[in-house]
Amino acid sequence: MPRYDLHSHSTYSDGLLSPAKLVARAASRGVDVLALTDHDEVAGLPEARAAAAHAGISLVNGSELSVSWESHTLHVVALRIDPESPTLVQGLENIRSGRTTRAQRIANALAEAGIGGAYEGAMKYVTSEELISRTHFARYLVEAGYANEVKDVFKRYLTPGKPGYVVHEWATLPQAIDWIHTAGGQAVLAHPGRYKVGVSGLRRLLADFRDAGGDAIEVLSSSHTAAQFAEFATLARVYGLMASGGSDYHGPGESRMDLGDLPPMPAGVVPVWQHW
Ligand code: AMP
Ligand code: MN
Ligand code: MN
Ligand code: MN
Repeated sequence: MPRYDLHSHSTYSDGLLSPAKLVARAASRGVDVLALTDHDEVAGLPEARAAAAHAGISLVNGSELSVSWESHTLHVVALRIDPESPTLVQGLENIRSGRTTRAQRIANALAEAGIGGAYEGAMKYVTSEELISRTHFARYLVEAGYANEVKDVFKRYLTPGKPGYVVHEWATLPQAIDWIHTAGGQAVLAHPGRYKVGVSGLRRLLADFRDAGGDAIEVLSSSHTAAQFAEFATLARVYGLMASGGSDYHGPGESRMDLGDLPPMPAGVVPVWQHW
């Protein structure tokens, strides 16, 4: 059985490793099939592809699209896309273009909470000009002493209801899924266990996702507990969706799970790679 890791980030979004370093690390950790899924971006794929050929592993062209659904932000992982699809490229550009003004709004909100200079501070951690994310703010806030680690910054400053959180409109769910399909790819609902939507909200979300043409959900994710692996395997089956899995690796010291550290896919689901 090949070892799949279908969710990871590089310096082209908010990861800490270059695509080449990420791929080399995946190969050294026994990953056979790796998807690079930078937020709203595909620019790291050529470098990753060259590194994968060199390391003798398979690279899946991916991305992780930011989506607004009801009052929530969701992530939809795209797998096996054509990264040159004009529809997808344009869609991703539209999502990315909102990030800079959003970052200024985040900085303003933090300034009102007494934290100045956050935009410039976050920019010190940005590694791709079009992609500033909350992670970059979090890294700066750790540096500036507001918290000991990135996940504490999120808890205290950057999540809904906290001083540095701002509402933002991303793509819609049908848009994201259509772009992915137009680019020949599969649409995977990322880390469904992470959304604070409640029990009925989760049912509505899974139904909306499936009805909009979604293909799979992440069953295995570093955001999930072992109980959630089982829960989402069941939900995948019930909603007629395939099952995916990825570490969502962002870099040494920042991720709960390293590349390839996923348990086997639970029985009874159809893996997203079934017909690859
Ligand atoms: P953004 O796309 O700018 O909203 O940033 C989203 C990114 O922030 C996610 O992809 C994660 O890398 C990171 N993130 C979100 N929530 C948390 C959290 N609670 N702890 C650590 N990182 C988080
Ligand atoms: Mn991220
Ligand atoms: Mn995500
Ligand atoms: Mn991710």
